[in-house]
Amino acid sequence: MSERDEALADLLAYGRFLGGMSSLGVRPAAPLPAPAPAAGGPGDPADALAAVREELGDCRRCRLAAGRKTIVFGQGNPRAEIMFVGEAPGADEDEQGLAFVGRAGQLLTDIIEKGMRLPRSDVFIANVIKCRPPQNRNPEPDEILACQPFLDAQIRAIRPRVLVGLGKFGAQWLLRTAEPISRLRGRLGDRDGIPVMPTFHPAYLLRNPAGKKDVWEDMKAVLRLLGRPVPGESD
Ligand code: SF4
Repeated sequence: MSERDEALADLLAYGRFLGGMSSLGVRPAAPLPAPAPAAGGPGDPADALAAVREELGDCRRCRLAAGRKTIVFGQGNPRAEIMFVGEAPGADEDEQGLAFVGRAGQLLTDIIEKGMRLPRSDVFIANVIKCRPPQNRNPEPDEILACQPFLDAQIRAIRPRVLVGLGKFGAQWLLRTAEPISRLRGRLGDRDGIPVMPTFHPAYLLRNPAGKKDVWEDMKAVLRLLGRPVPGESD
């Protein structure tokens, strides 16, 4: 498929996604209540995040609950300056209940630790969808709608200084767009006032190592945005 055809297909898919909400009778879940007053002080991100996890519970709000082993809430520093958002858990993540722990996760760890020279535990990593879709198929629009209030609530709890959208689903969801990742990548956007850097998904990089150069450029832009040292430029 040419890039133009791919863009058209994405746009049509997003149109169906938007149109499908009402025709499927799917309504976005009600906004989550504000997190409970924090035990560790007003607005404490760890407490706010724990409240989101409690609200999620043993979630059965969409059909993906039937096939999952574990809910993958996402993990990392509740006070992270950088929050990564991928698509959905795969087999390893479903097994362990942790985001990005398979081969793609190892590559993401390398990008963060060897590339950006940050401990992975300093960032927060989550997905648009918290349960593994069967055979790793793409998430359906109604599944995204059912799950997204929790990711939004996580973002509000953590209040990162920058969001990184990993691959098509993470980037499109954060930026509320249907533009293909090939066009979004490397262009800083915004979600509710938080800068968003869209970049390639580590799973894509495993198949297309040439894309690592682009991802590194995007991560350097993130470090610059945060006023942090950029390895290779400042040392
Ligand atoms: S994917 Fe999200 S909405 Fe669906 S069951 Fe899992 S946690 Fe709930």
